[in-house]
Amino acid sequence: MKENGVQVHLNTPVKELLMEDGRICGVELENGQKEYADAVILACGGLSYPQTGSDGDGHRMAGEVGHSCTRLLPSLVPLLVQEDWCHELQGLSLKNVTLTLRQGKKQIYQEFGEMMFTHFGITGPIVLSASTCVHKYLKKGNLQAEIDLKPALTEKQLDERVLRDFAEVPNRQLRNTLDKLLPKSLILPLIQVSGNDPYAVVHDMTKQSRLALIRTVKALPLTVTGTRGFAEAIITQGGIPVKEVMPDTMESKIVRGLFLAGEMLDLDAVTGGYNLQIAWSTGRAAGIGAAEYVKTLNE
Ligand SMILES: Cc1cc2nc3c(=O)[nH]c(=O)nc-3n(C[C@H](O)[C@H](O)[C@H](O)COP(=O)(O)OP(=O)(O)OC[C@H]3O[C@@H](n4cnc5c(N)ncnc54)[C@H](O)[C@@H]3O)c2cc1C
Repeated sequence: MKENGVQVHLNTPVKELLMEDGRICGVELENGQKEYADAVILACGGLSYPQTGSDGDGHRMAGEVGHSCTRLLPSLVPLLVQEDWCHELQGLSLKNVTLTLRQGKKQIYQEFGEMMFTHFGITGPIVLSASTCVHKYLKKGNLQAEIDLKPALTEKQLDERVLRDFAEVPNRQLRNTLDKLLPKSLILPLIQVSGNDPYAVVHDMTKQSRLALIRTVKALPLTVTGTRGFAEAIITQGGIPVKEVMPDTMESKIVRGLFLAGEMLDLDAVTGGYNLQIAWSTGRAAGIGAAEYVKTLNE
């Protein structure tokens, strides 16, 4: 296929980079065919969503001509959670909650927004963003997560609200209350996590039990044990170190005529279009850089 004077080969994997006298001179395709060129732009993506064709081939080819690669990790990816009750809530989505991640006393992440329970753990916008900063801590052990289900209320305000709700139904069992405050499927697990008896009658509850319930609504605890894999990771963290490319042209500092762009590089960001921006900006710089390079060769 030819487009704007450019020959496009669809569904044609490149097998390796061709070199001559330390310079790039083309690529060899999987079918053995060789395509010669003065410059090559390598933009094969990361390891995420390998069904799109990005399966780490680019890092292999760059490695074969001398580039290094930092550890590749799945990012913008759902998190695995240890607690079984969480898995049973799969499909439940929470809006306007605050997610906090800690390891020991260190707070790693906090964000307000939307999230969802799945059969393996948690996902959704604030969880995917959280995943961008968890790997270095997960190497040391599990993370403690807390979901504040009512971030707009202080514990005192929440207690007053619960007391008012309880006053309307003093003879009900605890498991049949809280429906004005929480999604139905969350009520029973939350009562159990708080250490309360779901069958306790509301007017028999001690202040201590009620406050334990309130504290659990403000900080529902979960244990994060890991992340899902590359197949579900929107982006790949790690890649070819940016110090191995010229920042203005994206030309390799190791191989003349080789230009690198996009997710193959050790660059990544949170959600919000920043990862596409990385791909577009480095791709544009590499395109202009490669054209200028070929021009200088022909002068
Ligand atoms: C489901 C999903 C949603 C996303 N949503 C957003 C978003 O909302 N905002 C955002 O900023 N980012 C988003 N991203 C991330 C963004 O799409 C990537 O960061 C960006 O596409 C990376 O561009 P790239 O050109 O470097 O790599 P890719 O887009 O991965 O393109 C690499 C191309 O190289 C091809 N290729 C690989 N190896 C070979 C080979 N050996 N020979 C020939 N071709 C090869 C692949 O088939 C692929 O077509 C999303 C990603 C996914 C998977």
